[in-house]
Amino acid sequence: MSKDAAMPDTAPCKRCGGASFGEGKVIGEGRVYPVRAFMLIGGSDLLLVFCLDCGEVASTRVKHPEKFHNH
Ligand SMILES: [Zn+2]
Repeated sequence: MSKDAAMPDTAPCKRCGGASFGEGKVIGEGRVYPVRAFMLIGGSDLLLVFCLDCGEVASTRVKHPEKFHNH
């Protein structure tokens, strides 16, 4: 098993105890931009790691936090 989504370090699901997680990308309204950005150029996708059994989101992170360093 060598899927990119495999995350052996992920703790068991806090909701159902499951150990299978998938990674998803939030698109559309889910994009994150610097609060003070004047124009919505750039920004970054949100990545979610969630339980494949019950859907509980175990982790939410901004894919490219470095884009926010100048704001
Ligand atoms: Zn679960």
